[in-house]
Amino acid sequence: MNRVPTHPAPAPGILDIAAYVPGGSTVPAGVEPHKLSSNESPVGASPAARAALENVGDALQIYPDGSARALREAIGEVHGLNPDNIVCGNGSDDLLSLTATTYLKSGDEAVHTEHGFLYYPIVIRAAGATPVVAREVELTAHVDNILAAVTGRTRIVFLANPNNPTGTWLPISEVRRLQAGLPRDVLLVLDAAYAEYVRKNDYEAGIELVSSCPNVVMTRTFSKIHGLAALRIGWLYAPTHVVDALNRVRGPFNVNAAAQLAAAAAVRDRDHVARSVLHNEEWIGKVTDALRNIGLEIPASAGNFVLIRFGDETMCSAADAMLTERGYVLRRVAAYGLADCLRMTIGTQQVNEAVIAALEEFMGWS
Ligand code: PMP
Repeated sequence: MNRVPTHPAPAPGILDIAAYVPGGSTVPAGVEPHKLSSNESPVGASPAARAALENVGDALQIYPDGSARALREAIGEVHGLNPDNIVCGNGSDDLLSLTATTYLKSGDEAVHTEHGFLYYPIVIRAAGATPVVAREVELTAHVDNILAAVTGRTRIVFLANPNNPTGTWLPISEVRRLQAGLPRDVLLVLDAAYAEYVRKNDYEAGIELVSSCPNVVMTRTFSKIHGLAALRIGWLYAPTHVVDALNRVRGPFNVNAAAQLAAAAAVRDRDHVARSVLHNEEWIGKVTDALRNIGLEIPASAGNFVLIRFGDETMCSAADAMLTERGYVLRRVAAYGLADCLRMTIGTQQVNEAVIAALEEFMGWS
């Protein structure tokens, strides 16, 4: 006899999803919190972006421009891109999800790397497809392993470059080799959320690859270098046929009016971007050196965060508890298979120095 369902069931695969857990900010009562758990900007948003928000309240009854034209034009102007090849989203999360929904169906596979950004398996499963993990080598994406993970069912390869939470990156020559080795009908999604921070001669975010290859797209965010995480705004650069497909599926008003105005002002404020990059460059070097000096393993990071490897889960938990007690909230990354590591976002000078001092004490160096 057939059982009568008692309630609607989610689509296959949905209950296999482990919900994304955002970075925490809880500290003991009375302690000033310093959130270093979500790779947010310690420099904050551009004054021009704040000013752009001043009059938003006058037109809250009006829908935003569903195509985000003025923002796409601003991005196009600054990055030298055709605005017709840009799609904006409610954070780059929205664009990753949109890409999965548009290109994956039940039975398909999508590849991501071993310690790749955790939202990839979520969007893959939500689209009914199966995530396939490509092993990394020394916490770094490995092109041959990614290519070996591709099967006849693969439709998308997601690559965060630089990757969160490892901070490691692939030189553009390797990304090109990856594209060249992929079947033409597999979409390569280059997630360049941290691109602006990268100060490596061998790095490119992927703009040229998108311009020259019909199977490559690049996603970017305003949440990191532009300090606009609260507004949820990201963008994607893609060949015309991909833009056309995504725009059929995209929410009609997926980017709110405040985000569009602030982001257009932010992307044009190159001085603010330069200041934010400089701050990060100075402090990622100092934090990395200081923590290596006390015996911690820190992979070279090209982003605005470092991965601190304690080599032991108990020690990592103790360090996390000690820092939280003092108000410094870093990110446990056990869900990425890195139970002995904390990820630390680069903060202000004062906060960076305080975390270094606390860890020196913890490691018995002071
Ligand atoms: N990609 C990577 C690699 C990230 O680290 C993040 C932020 N955690 C995102 C995408 C999503 O950023 P947002 O949705 O804020 O644009």
